[in-house]
Order: sequence, then structure tokens, then C-alpha cells
Amino acid sequence: MEQSKIRNVAIIAHVDHGKTTLVDELFKQSGMFRDNQAVSERLMDSGDIEKERGITITAKNGSYHYDDHMINIIDTPGHADFGGQVERVLRMADGALLLVDAQEGPMPQTYFVLKKALENHLPVIVVINKIDKPAARCDWVVDQVFDLFVKLNAPDHILDFPIVYASAKEGYALLNPDDEIVDGGSMECISRMIIEQTPAPVGSVDAPLQMQVGTIDYSPYLGRLGIGKVVNGTMTINQPIAVARRDGSLTPVRITKIYRFECDGKVSIESASVGEIVAVAGMDDVNVGVTFTDLANPTPLPLIEIDPPTISMHFIPNDSPFAGREGKYVTSRHIGDRLEKEILSDVALRYEPLTDAVGFKVSGRGELHLSILIENMRREGFEFQVTRPQVIMREDDNGQVLEPYETLTVDVDELYQGPVIEKLGKLKGQMEEMTLANGMVRLIYKIPTRGLLGYKSQFMTDTKGMGMMAYVFSEYGPYAGDIINRVNGVLIAKETCVAVAFALFNLQDRGYLIVKPGDPLYAGQIVGEHARAADLVVNPAKGKKLTNMRASGSDEAVILVPAKAMTLEDCIAYINDDELVEVTPQSIRLRKKPGVRIRS
Ligand code: GDP
Repeated sequence: MEQSKIRNVAIIAHVDHGKTTLVDELFKQSGMFRDNQAVSERLMDSGDIEKERGITITAKNGSYHYDDHMINIIDTPGHADFGGQVERVLRMADGALLLVDAQEGPMPQTYFVLKKALENHLPVIVVINKIDKPAARCDWVVDQVFDLFVKLNAPDHILDFPIVYASAKEGYALLNPDDEIVDGGSMECISRMIIEQTPAPVGSVDAPLQMQVGTIDYSPYLGRLGIGKVVNGTMTINQPIAVARRDGSLTPVRITKIYRFECDGKVSIESASVGEIVAVAGMDDVNVGVTFTDLANPTPLPLIEIDPPTISMHFIPNDSPFAGREGKYVTSRHIGDRLEKEILSDVALRYEPLTDAVGFKVSGRGELHLSILIENMRREGFEFQVTRPQVIMREDDNGQVLEPYETLTVDVDELYQGPVIEKLGKLKGQMEEMTLANGMVRLIYKIPTRGLLGYKSQFMTDTKGMGMMAYVFSEYGPYAGDIINRVNGVLIAKETCVAVAFALFNLQDRGYLIVKPGDPLYAGQIVGEHARAADLVVNPAKGKKLTNMRASGSDEAVILVPAKAMTLEDCIAYINDDELVEVTPQSIRLRKKPGVRIRS
């Protein structure tokens, strides 16, 4: 494909704002939709969990043709990061589409990826989606997006962003929301805007080949796939090239299979040139960061850092008397095979057999990272137990204990900075930077990874759900001393209680949370936040259904929440050393470890 005709755009969207529908529709309208299976089933958002938890876990790519151009859509994870994935994915893009719901406006969960896109100098096209909704308020949403760009210190030319108004569901897009929809409309103006506003990839076809693997995918048919953008030169099947590895070694190889991600699946191609995003198959030891380069003139691209795992948990077969009643996969062998499969595509994950017990030590980049794996396994029919997460310590040459530290970046409304600063101080965080702009405070901390265990939900509470936090591994440093970061006692008025209540009360389909808020405003907010999840709010004293706590004049309410609302991440963050989380396809429950006496 000719370089000037290629456009690589990253798509950034909050969950439910219509990313899958929009991409589906672009593909469909491009006329390359060759069978009836929904594209989304294969390309975007392939995991159920991604949708339910509001995140996109792995990045996938798909391309379509419009007006003799090839447009590559690069999916981005909708949240902070497992080992630098967002950066790696954005390296492939030359521009970004920010998709925003015409009623809700931009949501904090997308700030991190958007911020990274701006730092990478990607031009941004704003797509206001769902303009067909009666409650759509386009002008307000545009203002919100503008304010957000200001908060993220976007340069002036970004503040002048191009806008498209769309209804992905109805398949049309307009440059002006009041324009007439002709013949049912089409989404063409989005494709045209991408071609006009996103630069073609830079790089030279005549230069020696450079293609760096940014993500690994795994396919049962093709095996391990190394995905990346051809930065310079051309890659052709059977051409002898070199693979430059992380350790500096160069090995001559022949590439036998190259695939392009067309909207209806992977298509085998003979060669790929500058700017194309391709998958290389047939090399089982390919890994993130390797560069495919010219054999005669090897020029590896700079290394991609992969943060080391900083926390671990034990995954052990269930030993309770009820073991195996619910799960399809229950043995250590099942668990091991599943973990082996997982590490093929997840470079930030490690596992090893336990030496003193049956089971595995699984290490990753934080509670969310491991809890997504656990939840995936649960849904696939696995039944097993997990222990409390432990931070992975090291020793220096003198035998002194070192622990991992993260660089934590926090963006909060200045109104809420007080409690955040106070808590981070208690968690042994050291503030390195504090900047105030447009009512938002940005704080940068160095903090022991230990301090962050279980902190996320506290942070969301302290910032009324509007704060943004993201962390990357910093270094191993001296042990910071005791940190008390877990809340003892269960029924406190916080969001995490939902999870804890489930675990403690061994509830399967629904749990309840007694809220006794000190602050009635906050009560309203909890109820509000769970409004979608809660099917019923009752006053326990009167047994009466309430929809609004404040209206009832009661200081206590019980919220019934379907199990879907539970977050395993929270549950995991709050277990004690003498407890286990028992994971089965039907439930997640907390129980005492065998042999541990229950404290009276
Ligand atoms: P994703 O999570 O961002 O991939 O969002 P989806 O594409 O799955 O869409 C989420 C929900 O919004 C679905 O129920 C869609 O049918 C709906 N939706 C998507 N686009 C539109 C739109 O333009 N208008 C309306 N009214 N609903 C939409």
C-alpha cells in the first residue's frame, strides 16, 4: 500500500459511548463486510468483562478502505496500564479519534489515554456520538471537551479541534448537527475527516527495514503473532532479515507469514511497506520490543520498556469440601495450562509453580491486572482459590530488602486535593511535583507499590469519582516501613463495601450493603452511582423500598446490587493474610484458610 494513502488512527472512548458500533458501521459502510457475523465479535471488545467493567483490556486493530486510502483503526485500552501498553499502542498511530457520548460528555476514565495521545503530539478528531438521543446536548459536550483539553494542557492547535456529529447506531455522521440527513445518511464524513486531518505515516520505503513488535497476540490457528508498524523499508515473505532482541543479539530469520487486519479478519499478504500495521506469524519466540530489521544493515529501534511484575498472588486448586461442584476446570494441571496460554499474549504477566504446595505463584502489574485474569478464568469455568496479593520484594547486594516504587500521577479537582494528599502521605508517598491549572491539581508522587494496594477505591471516594490516577513502575528502593492501608471493619460507607459485602455474606446473585453515611450528600451519591446496578433500595428498619435516601429522612439504607456490580479487584485488595478468596464460576467468596482458627 502506498504510504501517502495510509492513515493510522487510535480510537479513544469511554465504555458504552459507542466505539464498537461506530467501528462496525465504518467497516460495514466501507463495503468490505463479507459475511453476516458482527465484526465486533471478532475485532473490538472481544471479552465480556471489558464491557462490564468499563475497560478495554487488549488492543486490537482493524483496517478498511475508503476513497483509495487504507484506514487503520487502532483500539486503545480505556484505562491505566499494564506495563506500558498504552504507550506501545499509541506509537503505531499518527492521529486519534476521541469518541464522546452526546449526552454524557467526556468521562474521566479516558483522560489517561487522551493525555498520552496529546503527549505523543497526535492530532485529535472529536466525534460526538449518539446525537439521535433525545437528551443529546452537543454544545455542552463540545464545551466539556474543550475544557478537558485545556486541563490536559493541549497545545493551541488541538483546542481548535475538528468535530463530527454522529449516530453510529443509525449509521450517519454530520459536520453540523443541524444538517439534514439525506437518504438515511452515511458515515463518510468521518472517513474523509480522518484522511484530511491525520498525517500519513512518516518513514522511508527506501531505508533499511525496521518493524518493532508493540503487542503480542495469540491465535489458536496461527500461534503467536507479533504486531507492529513498519516504520521504515519493506517487509516481504521469505526475504532474509534479522531479528534484534532485547538482549542486543541479532538472529537471521525468514518471515514466512505476514497478515493484515482487514475488517473481516486477518488477511495473509506477501509484503508490507512503510506505515502498515501487520502481524508476523510463525515465530514462536517473538516478543514485545524486538525489531525486524535489515540483515545487511541492522538498525534496531530503541528498546520498549516493559515494567517488571510488582505483585503476586497464589492460584491454588480449591481444597474445600465442596470443591469441584461448580467448576469445569479444577485441577492444578488445568490452571497451569491456562496460565501458560495467558502469558503468550500478556507480556507483563509471569507464573511459576509453588515449591511448597500445589498451585502457582502468578505475578503481574497490580490488583486490576490480576483480577481481570481471575475473572476471565472464572467465566471460562475455572474453580480455584487465590491468596492475598503480596508485593514482590528483592534484596540488594548487602542483603537489604528493597521494595518496588511507582510513579503515581494524580489529577484531581482542587476541591478534593486535601484528603488525597493526606492519604498518600500516610501510605508513604513522597510528593515530587504539584501543579495547579484551571482548577485541577496534578500531583506526582513516588510511592511504594504496597501503598497502592486497595487505594484506588479510596481515591475514587475521596474525589467523588472524578479523579484520575495512573502509575508506572519507577524503581526498587529501600523498604519504606509499615504501611497501614487496609480498612478493618466492613460496613463502611464506601463503594468497595459492595464487593466486600458480597464476599462476606457469601451471596451469589445479589448482595446488600448497609450505608450509614456521615454525609447525606455522599449517601445520595452512592445510591446514584449504583443506580444502574441497584435494582432496589430499601430501608432495613421499615422494609420499605426507597429510591431516594434523603427523601426518606433515614440515615441508613440497604442497597441491593446484582453480582455484576462487584469488583473482584476491590475484593482482592481487602482480604487478610489468613483468608482465601474462593473463585467459582457462580460465585466469589471469602473464607478462612484451612487450619486457621477463626478469631473470636
Ligand atoms: P462501546 O462500549 O464503546 O464499544 O459501545 P457500543 O458500541 O457497544 O455501544 C454501547 C451502547 O450504545 C449500545 O447499546 C449501542 O446500541 C448504543 N449506541 C451506540 N451508538 C449509538 C448511537 O449513535 N445512538 C444511540 N442512541 N445509541 C448508540
